Amino acid sequence: MSRRRVSIFGATGSIGQNTIDLIARDAQAYEVVALTGASNIAQLATDARRLGAQIAVTAEARLLPELRAALEGSGVEAAAGEAALLEAADRPADWIMSAIVGAAGLAPGFRALRHGATLALANKESLVTAGPLLLQEARQHGAQILPVDSEHSAVFQGLVGEDMAAVERIIITASGGGLRDWPIAALANATPEDAGAHPNWDMGQRITIDSASMFNKAMELIETKEFFGVVPAQIETVIHPQSIVHALVGFNDGALMAHLGAPDMRHAIGYALHYPDRRDLPVARIDLAQLATLEFYAPCATRYPALKLARAVMEAGGHAGCVFNAAKETALDGFLAGRIGFMDMSGVVEATLDAMSSKIGLSNAVETLEDVLQTDHMARKTAWTAIEHHEKEAR
Ligand code: NAD
Ligand code: MG
Repeated sequence: MSRRRVSIFGATGSIGQNTIDLIARDAQAYEVVALTGASNIAQLATDARRLGAQIAVTAEARLLPELRAALEGSGVEAAAGEAALLEAADRPADWIMSAIVGAAGLAPGFRALRHGATLALANKESLVTAGPLLLQEARQHGAQILPVDSEHSAVFQGLVGEDMAAVERIIITASGGGLRDWPIAALANATPEDAGAHPNWDMGQRITIDSASMFNKAMELIETKEFFGVVPAQIETVIHPQSIVHALVGFNDGALMAHLGAPDMRHAIGYALHYPDRRDLPVARIDLAQLATLEFYAPCATRYPALKLARAVMEAGGHAGCVFNAAKETALDGFLAGRIGFMDMSGVVEATLDAMSSKIGLSNAVETLEDVLQTDHMARKTAWTAIEHHEKEAR
């Protein structure tokens, strides 16, 4: 049997490492084409050697000598920089994991679709900033996109064999994040350390803080609209502290199909890796009797202002997702740098959406990838201005 050619973009990150874990368990079934990372050269080189990758790429050009040295004698090619990332995406593969964090993950994913590879999409920014464009690119090249975010994988699984016309609503769950039980008044003083601890999921620092603020859930609401082609009114979110039910699909006969699974990203990654088959995965099995309770409740709008902003973004469409993503990333940078407080992030995002709306008109369709990058750049500058404004007010 021929081996499946796979590439992993963002191989050194949390999703990338979980993907490698699954692939390494059955290494003879895969031919690893490209692995990419950024600053963690030791990890990148170790995995590239272990899996016998064709090429390892670091996004950071200055680290090429270090990568070359780490790969010496292994037969693995070394490359660095943005162009090298795109060249790696051009290398034919059957399955490509898109797990670079941030807007940097966009272009490699687009390139990978061009040769018809199946794109396992973890990178949220791709759908939020350029959803319609990405889906169009996939259609044009006969490529398939499979969602890897746990909620979207759950919805996708709930839709197998179903007719979209019978879908009434989609509910994605939220853990509520690390500050879920804090008094609202105390949130203004939350530090990055406070917000960076997650009760259920083990993820990167940025996404964990985005979980506490629900900017992560806001991104996922937008992803849901883009990927499944439903209207905002059909999408709901509910707080579910146990993180066992990941999403539910509601049908026109009143049936609600829930997807349950242990909070382990290898579940969604493995589903995308083996789709349309199901294979044995090394994830914990759920014991319902031991769990005993699954709770659900509506998120509080005051505690989680990001959710309201997501609604406005979904309604606006066009460039709004791109502005939203750039603004929330910048606001998080501002929070991590101690320049704004935890609850100020949503204010910065709202001010950025307002300012960008008068500058470019948010609802205009995104035509090209360059549009996205340009809007992203402009929105980040606008968001920094909002942060500076906020600092002045606070003084
Ligand atoms: P991470 O920070 O752990 O890893 C990010 C990866 O991207 C690393 O390999 C890093 O080297 C690489 N990278 C960073 N900056 C880069 C740049 N400028 N150019 C090229 N590569 C760069 O992130 P993660 O938690 O693995 O998340 C990856 C993506 O998947 C994000 O978009 C995230 O929102 C999404 N996601 C993550 C989870 C999760 O459980 N971690 C769940 C759902 C979705
Ligand atoms: Mg998720």
